[in-house]
Amino acid sequence: MTTNELETMTPQEMREEMRRYLNGKPEQAWHWIHGEGGRINSPRFTSDDRVIYDGDHAEIDVLRALVAANRRQKARRSAAARKAAETRRERREAKVYRLVRHLEEGGDLPGPRQKCSLCGKGLGDPSSIKRGIGSDCWQDVLRAMTANM
Ligand SMILES: [Zn+2]
Repeated sequence: MTTNELETMTPQEMREEMRRYLNGKPEQAWHWIHGEGGRINSPRFTSDDRVIYDGDHAEIDVLRALVAANRRQKARRSAAARKAAETRRERREAKVYRLVRHLEEGGDLPGPRQKCSLCGKGLGDPSSIKRGIGSDCWQDVLRAMTANM
């Protein structure tokens, strides 16, 4: 997002974006946000597309501040979700590596188990339960073992 993009949006476009964001949710209040003219206290976007706020800012400035705050929040959330997914992937890779070492040293499979010992998903088919490893994860284990040979 650029400031320029917000400058060229019409009030109607900004209301549309806020309505899509708030669809199905109760009106959302920000305690306060920064706007063009400074701090905007308790801005809210109502279900009938009105903006309520404390103070005397121009409505266009409040709309811009709401849309900008909404986009910043979305960006923070998706960055957090990406980081969490990356962490899960790294932990699982480390578990695959440790299991391969364990098996190569003559260790047993972790089963029988109801949940995959590598990713934690519930196991359905009898061979996965017996191994204690789901079929997708097992393919990764086999690949890692082949790569070590
Ligand atoms: Zn798994």
